Amino acid sequence: MIRLTTENTQNAIAKCKQLKPRVKFIKERMFAVQSSNNSNVYHVSLDVKDGERFGKCECRASECGLVCYHLIAGATANIYRQTLKLAK
Ligand SMILES: [Zn+2]
Repeated sequence: MIRLTTENTQNAIAKCKQLKPRVKFIKERMFAVQSSNNSNVYHVSLDVKDGERFGKCECRASECGLVCYHLIAGATANIYRQTLKLAK
């Protein structure tokens, strides 16, 4: 899994805001993100260890250790879900 930091997520956040990919909830900490330039769907899994965020995506960028916009889309959806849970 890739550790998500403010630095390594910056570009992906910008790209995610621009592309606004569709995100589908699969299960706890797992999301399916629709690619914006083809029909691929990437599964994103997320984790939190010792207060740090980690994530993994199925796409090639993620395999190379880069934070992709799919990962950000999944992480954003995850934070949103947790916020909803807290609001209950
Ligand atoms: Zn990806």
